[in-house]
Amino acid sequence: MESRDGKHIVILGGSFAGLSAAYELKRELGDRHKVTVIDKNGRFVFIPSLIWVPFGWRTPEQISFALEPSLSRKGIDFVQAAAERIDPERRVVVLDEPGQPGKTREVAYDYLMVATGPHVDFASVPGLGPHGGYTQSICTAEHAMAAGAAWREFLRDPGPILVGASQGAACFGAAYEFVFNLEYALRKAGVREKAQVTYVTAEPFAGHFGIGGLTHAQKLTEWFFRHVRIDWVTDSVMEQVTPGTLHLKQGTLHRASGGAEESLAGKTLPFKYAMIIPSFLGVEAVRKSGLGNERGFVKVDDYFRHETYENIYAAGVSVAVAPPAPCPAGCAVPKTGYISEVMARYAAKNIAASIEGKPLTAKPTTDIDAKCLLDAGNQGIIMYTDRIYAPKERKWQLMIPGPWGHWSKIAFEKYFIWKMRTGRVQLP
Ligand SMILES: Cc1cc2nc3c(=O)[nH]c(=O)nc-3n(C[C@H](O)[C@H](O)[C@H](O)COP(=O)(O)OP(=O)(O)OC[C@H]3O[C@@H](n4cnc5c(N)ncnc54)[C@H](O)[C@@H]3O)c2cc1C
Repeated sequence: MESRDGKHIVILGGSFAGLSAAYELKRELGDRHKVTVIDKNGRFVFIPSLIWVPFGWRTPEQISFALEPSLSRKGIDFVQAAAERIDPERRVVVLDEPGQPGKTREVAYDYLMVATGPHVDFASVPGLGPHGGYTQSICTAEHAMAAGAAWREFLRDPGPILVGASQGAACFGAAYEFVFNLEYALRKAGVREKAQVTYVTAEPFAGHFGIGGLTHAQKLTEWFFRHVRIDWVTDSVMEQVTPGTLHLKQGTLHRASGGAEESLAGKTLPFKYAMIIPSFLGVEAVRKSGLGNERGFVKVDDYFRHETYENIYAAGVSVAVAPPAPCPAGCAVPKTGYISEVMARYAAKNIAASIEGKPLTAKPTTDIDAKCLLDAGNQGIIMYTDRIYAPKERKWQLMIPGPWGHWSKIAFEKYFIWKMRTGRVQLP
């Protein structure tokens, strides 16, 4: 039972960061305080497997589960609604009333955790994205399904393909996974010779990932590109997309076949199929509430606590992290699922400690490690570094290529979905 002075902790966002935090808080606080998760979606989606959806290797149902039953089994309330804004002075989250346009209701909190992930900003490049634009996306289950329909259409009449990440994007790992999976899918479909594949990225070099790369990352990525005959364009700034054409302000073309680099400033690249990850911003509800920086990401201290409001914490992609390495064309800082979980665990422990009058535990972002599985169809790379956001202080940087990268990702998918569905966040 909730005690009379029980606190209400509201978690906005029920994905990697939000769901991990909710389970962790319940473990720490038991029934002494109330935990509520709010998400506009009713299902947890294992986003890393969305790269397989367009090729028919997964369906959204296979990689998702309903949030409400999992949360209610643990005594956590769930509200399916979109937050319109947060009022940090009045300590309320303003929710759109589902099915009643223009109507809102308020949920009061004592502590708030912002775990709202990114707003994928297709508007940053005219013509980008599946909503009225000409490129596909794999950032949500709906986008991945639409990318699958376009893929099936493409296979009837193949041609040039562009895959990449625009200036301001963060999820470079997903773009790499997608381009290697797509190349494998072309071979399986027997149409590889009919499709020239080009990877286009704002990164200054292949394998940069928005973090300055890891030891041997550039060599290994370039070797992979040459091995499977994918050309790559670095330092790209996209100007606009028109039907079948990407217009570049700048970019440097590297051919898999070798030869001199070529400037693509002011040039165009043709495509019959394109999947481009757009720029990332904080979500509108956070941007409107004045809780974020100029791009809408929440600035936190070493406890994942908001710089101004002591009862607001943040975790995951919604957190502002200082760029660890230069990226002149503009890379946002990537925050992977694992990193989101680490942040959420510390933020949750610190909310619990704050409620119970115990000391908080610091975890500077420069101390966060990273474990990553990069899938490439029937191959993959296992990546590890002890300090992802502090390149100069890293002691460990490992990249292990081979089929085990692919097998590990499949095993991890099953394990992680089970762990989150059953709330066993104490497991690694
Ligand atoms: C295609 C793809 C592949 C990826 N592959 C990998 C991988 O292999 N490994 C890896 O570690 N990471 C991967 N990532 C990154 C990983 O998905 C993110 O790190 C992770 O999803 C971040 O979790 P999060 O909880 O911070 O944000 P999100 O997962 O984006 O979740 C945010 C949640 O907030 C909710 N929300 C947002 N705004 C509101 C609002 N106003 N009201 C109510 N709810 C709201 C959303 O519905 C969502 O459920 C990949 C990402 C993509 C796009």
